[in-house]
Amino acid sequence: MSENNNQTRSSDVRRFNNSKFKRYSKKVCRFCKGQISEISYKDVDKLLRFTTERGKIIPRRLSGNCAKHQRMLAREIKIARILALMPFVRQ
Ligand SMILES: [Zn+2]
Repeated sequence: MSENNNQTRSSDVRRFNNSKFKRYSKKVCRFCKGQISEISYKDVDKLLRFTTERGKIIPRRLSGNCAKHQRMLAREIKIARILALMPFVRQ
């Protein structure tokens, strides 16, 4: 049972890197690079890019964010969840 879970999870990650979420293969912090200027709980569209389809926050090793910006991002996502702008869990 646990092996099955691991398999599905790794295949999910692979699918994640290959098809839909190609942009995460770049390991550059997009906030430091200046592509995204500021992080706010009001920018739900921006925050949704850093969550999975299920609503989980994408970890730093996949998103490529630096520690500082990942912390800020996580905080804003959590605020947005509490204010019901974003889902805690989808489906
Ligand atoms: Zn950064």
